[in-house]
Amino acid sequence: MATPRISFEFFPPQTLDASFRLWETVQALAPMQPEFVSVTYGAGGTTRKLTHEAVTAIGKNYGLNVAAHLTCVDATKAETLEIAAAYADAGVTEIVALRGDAPKGAERFSAHPEGFASSVELIEALAATGKFKLRVGAYPEPHPDAADSLADVRWLKRKIDAGASSAITQFFFDADTFFRFRDLCVKEGITAPIIPGILPITSWAGAKKFALRCGSDVPARLDDAFTTAARDGREELYALAHCTQLCDNLLQGGVEDLHFYTLNRPHLTREVVRALGIQPELVPELVLEKVA
Ligand code: FAD
Repeated sequence: MATPRISFEFFPPQTLDASFRLWETVQALAPMQPEFVSVTYGAGGTTRKLTHEAVTAIGKNYGLNVAAHLTCVDATKAETLEIAAAYADAGVTEIVALRGDAPKGAERFSAHPEGFASSVELIEALAATGKFKLRVGAYPEPHPDAADSLADVRWLKRKIDAGASSAITQFFFDADTFFRFRDLCVKEGITAPIIPGILPITSWAGAKKFALRCGSDVPARLDDAFTTAARDGREELYALAHCTQLCDNLLQGGVEDLHFYTLNRPHLTREVVRALGIQPELVPELVLEKVA
């Protein structure tokens, strides 16, 4: 079994405290030599600016290959393409192109009147610039907006055909969920790599809540196991065992890339990655900018 290629997702900090946490996370995970790291993107001007700053600062200070997430939410096409152009100017060459969720308070996603109506439109426009390697989201358990699994996979194929070169999945709890999805993708003619998204579970209550919101299946045996582990004060140990086993099952099934949702909490992710046989490189020199 080959050593997997790994990547990490971070989110941009909103407070000074959160900035320190992001920095600690990058510091702890950069030595694990990820293929790339990505930074999420939210609605609202401030969050967007923070994504841009986090993407460029991580790239500049750590020399990591950083993919910026970008969505269609609440922006005109011109505004969205301006953000992409600013990334290109800053030397960013990878974008995770997404439709995005409904803004707070709204039930469903609705496009800005002058915005991109779907992820496919956004991907086409970004591909036309010729400046980015594009990744997209994928859903081993159908997205709540999908008619069914087949419709979901066919939509994913449209996203790939529009110019994306790989997809990163939503997290899931069982390797078989991913394998069933991968088989369906192959059957529908998708040849681009599908990278499983892995959530190291630092809070079972939080993971369960998020999974239920996404319409994902929460296995009862996992609920029981985490409840028992928490009662015995061993939740962290169980989380490490569960996540390592999940990754191992995926690798046994031919997976070569793993994308970790770090939630800016590096320790469990780092332990899992080490358990998979990846050793940290000696800490790369920080290229700190001179303070004037
Ligand atoms: P799409 O794949 O375009 O649509 C979701 C589903 O709806 C499709 O799978 C398809 O079944 C159906 N669908 C949509 N439009 C059509 C259509 N016209 N015809 C037929 N079916 C259609 N959200 C953020 O806000 N910021 C982030 O940084 C962020 N990062 C993410 C990273 C990853 C790897 C993933 C998996 C998700 C991320 N999300 C993020 C969440 C994402 O924005 C939501 O899941 C959103 O609801 C769907 O975005 P998408 O690009 O995957 O949508």
